[in-house]
Amino acid sequence: MTRLGYSLREAIALEGPMTVERYMALCLAHYYATRDPLGVAGDFTTAPEISQIFGELVGLWAMEVWNAMGRPARLHLVELGPGRGTLMADMLRTARILPDFLAALRVHLVETSPTLRARQQGMLAQSGPEIAWHGDMAELPAGPMILVANEFFDALPVRQFVATERGWCERLVGLAGDRLVFGLASAPEHQQRAARPAGAFLERQDASICLTATIAGRLAREGGAALIIDYGYWGPATADTLQALRHHQPVDPLSDPGEADLTTHVDFAQIAAAGLAAGARLHGLDTQANFLHALGIATRAARLKAAASSEQAKAIEEAVARLTDTGERGMGALFKVLALTHPGLDAVPGLHARPHPPQR
Ligand code: SAH
Repeated sequence: MTRLGYSLREAIALEGPMTVERYMALCLAHYYATRDPLGVAGDFTTAPEISQIFGELVGLWAMEVWNAMGRPARLHLVELGPGRGTLMADMLRTARILPDFLAALRVHLVETSPTLRARQQGMLAQSGPEIAWHGDMAELPAGPMILVANEFFDALPVRQFVATERGWCERLVGLAGDRLVFGLASAPEHQQRAARPAGAFLERQDASICLTATIAGRLAREGGAALIIDYGYWGPATADTLQALRHHQPVDPLSDPGEADLTTHVDFAQIAAAGLAAGARLHGLDTQANFLHALGIATRAARLKAAASSEQAKAIEEAVARLTDTGERGMGALFKVLALTHPGLDAVPGLHARPHPPQR
């Protein structure tokens, strides 16, 4: 049992079972605060860590959006959960091709983990623009922004509900002896939801919805765009998507509290609805593969390969194949891309504008 595991057990013994949302929040706060989870030696690998091309293309995306915004002289470039800072470093290196854009930027990193803040500081020390760190979106100064979030929303906690013979129940984390176990408690306030076959899941993403409303409200008022890339689907959910990864292997989400990465798949329908309700325009959803192809991943890879050794060229090809793999378990299909913008921005690169609110 981990140290956090003992504390959770104490809390549950004293106060009773806790929601999956509370369990995720407590585990993830401990997890991210105490380690760099990325890369071969860590628990998982993300797109910017696979290839520099990912961040370069997102950088080009941001430059085109800035152009479409009418080239504001000041722009907040915001990243949520920047990990090692690799995506931002690749974006800022790319931005050097457009000096007016680079000069307009004020970079803001929203990061709660002191360990990862230190990594980001090291990674971005030579990158040019002034950088500020924040614990929360609410601390950002006013003004137009371009925001990026890669594999951030999947780390926000959710409540889980399960359809049973006696109606909807909430899934809770409780104790059996000294072991953490899942249980169900009836959820009277959720009975008005449509009935589903027993065993069906519903995941309620309050943290994601609140954050999206904050972002979209800001975009509608002050201008700009947000690019959200994550492992997810167009909901509602029908199955349990909570998963735990440790050393790149799936583990039981209750077995190593605070020592394994916990995620759920993002329901983009909930994010889209929250963004539209707060006054933003919606672009996408599309797959990561389609998005990267539309932004010219093949051309960029060919350019890099032309200046590379044969071994490097092979590594570039493998990385591009991994990012755009549309097989059943490929990143290109499982990861989705959605943008929210000021309602006056009628197009962003790589994604189709949606004229009507999505049907749920
Ligand atoms: N975007 C990065 C890292 C993804 S891991 C990449 O693509 O490589 C998730 C990141 O979000 C980590 O940096 C983690 O510390 C941060 N994070 C998790 N929960 C957070 C929260 N509630 N507020 C701010 N940052 C958070």
